[in-house]
Amino acid sequence: MARSHCPLCKAKVEPSVLDEINGEEGRLAVRVYQMPVLQCSNGHRLFSHPDFPLLLLDWLAQSGTKLPVSAAKGMLIKKYHCCACGEPLSEPDDQRHSFRLAVNLPDTAPFEIDLTMPVHRCPKCRKEQVHSLKQVRNDAPAALAHAFKSAQMTAGM
Ligand SMILES: [Zn+2]
Ligand SMILES: [Zn+2]
Repeated sequence: MARSHCPLCKAKVEPSVLDEINGEEGRLAVRVYQMPVLQCSNGHRLFSHPDFPLLLLDWLAQSGTKLPVSAAKGMLIKKYHCCACGEPLSEPDDQRHSFRLAVNLPDTAPFEIDLTMPVHRCPKCRKEQVHSLKQVRNDAPAALAHAFKSAQMTAGM
């Protein structure tokens, strides 16, 4: 259920949109564009839906699997290979690259999220790919939490 009044000051809340919010954790930076929120006349911000953070994380866990990930081979010493052409990835994964994802949550206006992290760039086909999807998944909740905090979202209500 969407709220109609602010839990902090009881003023009426109206749908609003946050242009851009940022958060960073570990090697992952998230940037959320045009995130729908509810805002009261005193500037308190609520999630458009109480489950919004959970739904977004769920969505991210599923959509994250669409990111290009390099293939790891080897038991003790891992070697990474290009997911597109199989070329060994000799360059270090120190190039930062942003992957833009279009977010579609139920009952929520579509918005976009950028995941920025170090990537491997294939020396042969130049495809940019993620080193470890697990790391992205581990860092995403905290990175998003930082972004929500920076936007002064009223959480937990
Ligand atoms: Zn308020
Ligand atoms: Zn390649």
